[in-house]
Amino acid sequence: MNNTAYIGRFAPSPTGPLHMGSLVAAMASYLDARTHHGTWLVRIEDIDEGRTVPGADEAILQCLQAFGMRWDGEVVWQSRRKALYEAAFARLGSHAYACGCTRREIADSRIGIASDGAAVYPGTCRGGLAEGKTARAWRLRIADDCRIGFTDRWQGEVSQHLPSEVGDFVLRRADGFWAYQLAVVVDDADQQVTDIVRGADLLDSTPRQIYLQRLLGAPTPRYLHVPVVTNSAGEKLSKQTGALALDVLRPLPELIRAAAYLELDVNGVDTIEQFWQSALHRWQARFRD
Ligand code: GLU
Repeated sequence: MNNTAYIGRFAPSPTGPLHMGSLVAAMASYLDARTHHGTWLVRIEDIDEGRTVPGADEAILQCLQAFGMRWDGEVVWQSRRKALYEAAFARLGSHAYACGCTRREIADSRIGIASDGAAVYPGTCRGGLAEGKTARAWRLRIADDCRIGFTDRWQGEVSQHLPSEVGDFVLRRADGFWAYQLAVVVDDADQQVTDIVRGADLLDSTPRQIYLQRLLGAPTPRYLHVPVVTNSAGEKLSKQTGALALDVLRPLPELIRAAAYLELDVNGVDTIEQFWQSALHRWQARFRD
């Protein structure tokens, strides 16, 4: 029987087939949901339509099934949920403001570089659009001196000073698409997600998401960020860094390799069923709380 108090999710972006990095994130969130007898949802994050690869969503779902991961309920697609993002954006009212700055203008301001490599927004349009500028993106006004901290179940204490480390961030992009930060917060709240388990590449997005949750009156879930899988050059695995697709026809070795990244010592298993039993055992021993 499912524990109704726990709702987890795996939220892949359909920009290509699953690779080892995404399998590790999926495995961790799946094991954590099963450990807590909870619900495990799958949400296809295809909000950035320019990066969406046709058919990648179905390939990801088939891959999850081939690897023995069964989700609960219906899969949702962000591209079909735009009305929810629009409504949340409207609720933000004057916390959101129109920005007419180009990428170059922001880079030239040299206020600082955010942890994700983007330039910190200098606040040029905070008080209204400057003469001659037209609205491009919409940004969220971050309160002065706002520091957000949380306890991550894997990484420990995390704290970020939003004004200097991130700045007023984008909610609606210049190309008209909703930004990941807004969509993910709206969806996690709408789907009543209680536990977010994902890769540590998103660790520095979490304070932004907590900030948005507070503005929207949404509860803050618990977080667990697993180590990022890197290639031999130390780069995060992704399509851009040449990550290979997983071998769906030989799932067991891939599963065992993914488990090793999670520091789960799963040995001597001959079938997918045995793999999951053993991996679940190991995960439970560490993350039952
Ligand atoms: N769609 C994001 C990705 O594939 C993950 C979002 C999340 O788990 O919050 O990187």
